[in-house]
Amino acid sequence: MSMMELDREYVAGTYRRFPVEIVSGQGSRWVDDQGKTYVDMGSGIGVNAFGASDEVWRQAVTEQLGKVQHTSNLYYTYPCARLAQLLCEKTGMKKVFFANSGAEANECAIKVARKYSAEKKGGEYFTILTLVNSFHGRTLTTLSATGQECFHSLFQPLTPGFVHAEANNVPALEKCVEENKLAGIMLEVVQGEGGVVPLTGEFLQAAQRLCRERDIPLMIDEVQTGNGRTGYFYGYMAYDLQPDIVSTAKGLGGGLPIGACLMGKKVENVLTYGDHGSTFGGNPVCCAGAVTVVERLTEDFLAQVREKSGYVFKTLENAPGIENVTGLGLMIGIRTTAPAGDVVKLCRERGVLCLTAKDKVRLLPALNIPMEDLTFAVETIAQAAKELANL
Ligand SMILES: *Cc1c(COP(=O)(O)O)cnc(C)c1O
Repeated sequence: MSMMELDREYVAGTYRRFPVEIVSGQGSRWVDDQGKTYVDMGSGIGVNAFGASDEVWRQAVTEQLGKVQHTSNLYYTYPCARLAQLLCEKTGMKKVFFANSGAEANECAIKVARKYSAEKKGGEYFTILTLVNSFHGRTLTTLSATGQECFHSLFQPLTPGFVHAEANNVPALEKCVEENKLAGIMLEVVQGEGGVVPLTGEFLQAAQRLCRERDIPLMIDEVQTGNGRTGYFYGYMAYDLQPDIVSTAKGLGGGLPIGACLMGKKVENVLTYGDHGSTFGGNPVCCAGAVTVVERLTEDFLAQVREKSGYVFKTLENAPGIENVTGLGLMIGIRTTAPAGDVVKLCRERGVLCLTAKDKVRLLPALNIPMEDLTFAVETIAQAAKELANL
């Protein structure tokens, strides 16, 4: 059996994989089983923040592996405490709960919001408002939170207590807040899986105002937008927001599974003994790697992310075969005249690996991608979009 046949035979058929077997990588370059090198513009869906096999990250991870790989939360470990300290210092949040994925970080966020509101206002204040076209995860509760019917239909009944308002429509948001007994409002500042759609500052400020007026926790899902991806430490910082709850994952661990739910002053003491837990949460190997990611997201480094972003936007906006470019920082969606799948396929043949989101080409390169690799990738994408549009 070939490797791909083996996978198709035994691995659950939930993923449509690209026909490529990756065997190794270094920085923003990945190598397949044929020895072909690609420039990777996806970083494992925004996960390998500093690229493949990054030296600093690898050293911290292997050093911790040589000490102890896991202890459970029955014991103290330094990497976990240090990572929580860094996250709080960089955001002004007060407490961190560690999980293992984005969906789990959101589960924690939802529990915090519900407990806060039940204690403060009564148990009937359990509804979480999220947005149409949002994505918050694949567990049954985070699927409920996800405002896209296509994910829901086969798995009824989902967790009750979620309503969805239209993004960037302030009157619709106000009406929805008016009509429901809310425990929280949860938003992505740029809807990633929904097609890399940034929310407007006006809408986000309105959401924050409504939350403040009614003592509703403002919850920002930074699973994809977090940890430098947007050119800001967290995406909400680009919009001058002060959320009460922030969930994050993807890029935080630099390639190892970790999620985090950050709690601000309003909700810092909501969770107490026994309220929540995770066997793997705060794993010292994952946390040791994450510390090296967070420590390197300095203002200088983030300015470089914004500069690279500017280059991509400038080069691709108004290029032939490209309708528009959306996103923030190195989280970029490209609407091409030709179908996105065709563009991604041609790029792959020419040595550039891209992603899609909805009907767009999506880029989530490593935050430290060298200009040489970025230039090659962007020129390859521009050329493919042009050719496939017959221009
Ligand atoms: C990817 C993603 C999730 C889910 O994260 P998992 O680690 O796959 O559970 C949740 N929210 C947003 C905004 C995401 O992009």
